[in-house]
Amino acid sequence: MLNTLRKIVQEVNAAKDLKAALTIIVQRVKETMGSQVCSVYLLDPESNRFVLMATDGLNKRAIGKVSMSPNEGLVGLVGSREEPLNLEHASEHPRYRYFAETGEERYASFLGAPIIHHRRVMGVLVVQQKERRQFDEGEEAFLVTMSAQLAGVIAHAEATGTIQGLGKQGKGIQEAKFVGVPGSPGVAVGPALVMLPPADLDVVPDKRIEDIEAELANFTQALEAVREDMRTLSAKLATQLRPEERALFDVYLMMLDDAAIGQEVSQIIRQGQWAQGALRQVVAEHVKGFELMDDAYLRERASDVKDLGRRLLAYLQQAHKEKLTYPDNTILVSEELTPAMLGEVPEGKLAGLVSVLGSGNSHVAILARAMGIPTVMGVVDLPYAKVDGIQLIVDGYHGEVFTNPSAELRRQYDEVVEEERQLNKGLDALRELPCETLDGQRMPLWVNTGLLADITRAQERGAEGVGLYRTEVPFMARERFPSEKEQLAIYREQLQAFHPLPVTMRTLDIGGDKALPYFPIKESNPFLGWRGIRITLDHPEIFLVQVRAMLKASEGLNNLRILLPMISGVQELEEALHLIHRAWGEVRDEGLDVVMPPVGVMIEVPAAVYQIRDLARQADFISVGSNDLTQYLLAVDRNNARVADLYDFLHPAVLHALKLVVEGSHAEGKPVSICGEMAGDPAAAMLLMAMGFDSLSMNATNLPKVKWLLRQISLGKARELLAQVLQIDNPQVIHSALHLALRNLGLGRMINPAANVQA
Ligand code: PEP
Ligand code: MG
Repeated sequence: MLNTLRKIVQEVNAAKDLKAALTIIVQRVKETMGSQVCSVYLLDPESNRFVLMATDGLNKRAIGKVSMSPNEGLVGLVGSREEPLNLEHASEHPRYRYFAETGEERYASFLGAPIIHHRRVMGVLVVQQKERRQFDEGEEAFLVTMSAQLAGVIAHAEATGTIQGLGKQGKGIQEAKFVGVPGSPGVAVGPALVMLPPADLDVVPDKRIEDIEAELANFTQALEAVREDMRTLSAKLATQLRPEERALFDVYLMMLDDAAIGQEVSQIIRQGQWAQGALRQVVAEHVKGFELMDDAYLRERASDVKDLGRRLLAYLQQAHKEKLTYPDNTILVSEELTPAMLGEVPEGKLAGLVSVLGSGNSHVAILARAMGIPTVMGVVDLPYAKVDGIQLIVDGYHGEVFTNPSAELRRQYDEVVEEERQLNKGLDALRELPCETLDGQRMPLWVNTGLLADITRAQERGAEGVGLYRTEVPFMARERFPSEKEQLAIYREQLQAFHPLPVTMRTLDIGGDKALPYFPIKESNPFLGWRGIRITLDHPEIFLVQVRAMLKASEGLNNLRILLPMISGVQELEEALHLIHRAWGEVRDEGLDVVMPPVGVMIEVPAAVYQIRDLARQADFISVGSNDLTQYLLAVDRNNARVADLYDFLHPAVLHALKLVVEGSHAEGKPVSICGEMAGDPAAAMLLMAMGFDSLSMNATNLPKVKWLLRQISLGKARELLAQVLQIDNPQVIHSALHLALRNLGLGRMINPAANVQA
């Protein structure tokens, strides 16, 4: 059964549009279940009716005509109750409604299963048969499984239809909204540019082209380049391979021949498809053909075709990249955005970011916030491969993306962009003013840095120090570990730029979703695996080099603080302190006059919350990494869009843990700061100040907003609000209480200028 299920889903996935997908579904399900009818009804959100979209068995003329509201008929019942319905004699059910157009009076029994995608009822899948008998348990289970699997495929096909004008009932291209999670606040309007991972043929999008001759020439060049590679490879291996093995290269060359793959791809290009899309189609066809063969040798040939496809694609992508021009206001779209991708768009051209995978707490979103680029993450239903070149609106406040926006929606968002510009102008004036509450409480605001550009941004916004310098960022941009000398230069630049203000450098924090291309870590559970301090204690050679570079860089400046990530117990702290002292001794032995910097511990793991007194006793300062602390306390992967709405740093459990950390650190007489993204959220920052945090460290983009809010409120009022919030047990209620309080203070618009958009 599992095999049948997989085959059907594969086939439906490969369908060219929604109509074709639904046709395959009804045919295959009917065949597999041996029923006489299978039909799909989809809910049309505009009319709120379930419309018959495809059927095998009922009268085809009824397609698109027969429809029912959720309180009508058996289909309506299945959809509104969100449960399967299995009836031996359908017409005897009180909710039965007869539609003459369908000819369904011939069928006695009825089995319907709702099609639900991310809690949204999309439609109903129905099978019917003449015989008066209930479908058995196995059949019911099959239909439910089928419909659960198909929900995502249908959602995807439906969304693609809306974007490309091939949607339901022949409606043309329409504005569509795709919901993700906020990645970085702000609004951007501009054309989409889809960025693909290198040489992954499966994700190549379709794209129409005008200049067919030029595209054919591109493809011919790629073909010739791969042919040349094959010849070189064959010659190089000539002495090591047997003749029959070498013959494989001839097979490759034959496949590339003008009469084989080469010709098929050219034909599709001539129809106006770009070379990469044409190549994907042809390779997929051949692979499917080979994989279905009974002969094991021939089945193996599928991997040869894939390999050739990848080689050709790599050349095509290279050529494309060299010629690519980035339009103004580029909105970069990718299945999974990576920090490296952000760097590819030239400065000044990048307006917004959209990622299908990941969430607002992924590291790429943190970078986007630091760069002040509106971003939406986890837009899981966006058929990203189909949006290249079309207009998008990115609403980073609400986590929404609009494709093909109407003129009216564009006008509203253009106004938001203008309002943001005005607000930012107003915030610039705060630069020289202290962060001080109405009743005179000073609250030092520090910045998080990593990118070189962060230095200027931080200085422009009046930061009072660096609370977190993510040293892994310069490590990520290289092809090997930077040497001690290289690190020294990078760190010196940071320390000098902010001198005499303090700079908190965190030791290398890789693992989880932060990978170094030259130090791959494969784990099934990376966030609970080899991460942060665990790696560097296992590799003292990496740790010592880094600490020595930091210490040397601080010579004569003395504004360095060292911060240790992912500490989960006293032992790790002691081992790290031991290594830091050793590095300090070595540096002094080399004749450098360097003072021992303060060493701090990040509180990111729940275990550290409950050991706060022991840790604070041995450390010089404490800094809470609320991004990780939230994910570990709530057991919500910070990178997983599916559970992004459960990730909440205002969850009561998080707030109470933070309070414990502040109390524990102060009881040991140690200062405590927070450097997670929470500190850059103005409303949360107000609560953190009231809790007693000694400094807040955030991305430079948000710093003025936080300063603005803290200057509008008294510490007394903030404490009152905190006391109120700590009594609440429900995160949603906490959010509402805070919003209300801010609105009452007249501060709502600053936090979300897009609050009034009517989409
Ligand atoms: C944190 O976890 O809160 C933190 C600041 O570290 P990072 O986001 O780099 O994991
Ligand atoms: Mg962290």
